[in-house]
Amino acid sequence: MSQPTPSTLEPSPIDSHLKGLDYSVVQQCMHCGLCLPSCPTYELTQMEKHSPRGRIALMRAIADDELEVSRSFAEEMYYCLGCLACMTACPAGVNYAELFEHARAEVESKNVLQSPKRSLIRRLTISWLFTEQRRLQFLGDSNALVSAIRIADFHSQHRYLETHAQTIA
Ligand code: SF4
Ligand code: SF4
Repeated sequence: MSQPTPSTLEPSPIDSHLKGLDYSVVQQCMHCGLCLPSCPTYELTQMEKHSPRGRIALMRAIADDELEVSRSFAEEMYYCLGCLACMTACPAGVNYAELFEHARAEVESKNVLQSPKRSLIRRLTISWLFTEQRRLQFLGDSNALVSAIRIADFHSQHRYLETHAQTIA
């Protein structure tokens, strides 16, 4: 019996992280909205798409093949802080952490946020900065130096103002 060639094979479920996710996780949300007050991004904007419920609906739409992985979906997934406060508040035990991980993986695998600037920042951080401890140490020292300069600058300005206040008085 002949084996199917790669071109005749069905795409693997892992081609889409959200479609490959156990559907019982995708459909857990019952849209009650009890998580909304705990979500900092919803608190800030009062917009449904910036709420856990809204994001889960977007993820489910991707899993159900009703929505493409677009730039606006990607930006929404990165606007989420991943703080998981919504998980603690959810009475239905929705596994937002798993949904969120798969949604971010989906975004990365589809490259919808790709740009030269993003690639450069990622190369500099992931492939260069984080690969050697001494580089991180140098960055830490530089930050400490900048803070020290700012503090020194603040104190000298403070002294200048004090001197001038006495002169004027
Ligand atoms: S992880 Fe945080 S920011 Fe994201 S939906 Fe949940 S509560 Fe909101
Ligand atoms: S995530 Fe939980 S709390 Fe939020 S709407 Fe869905 S079921 Fe309700």
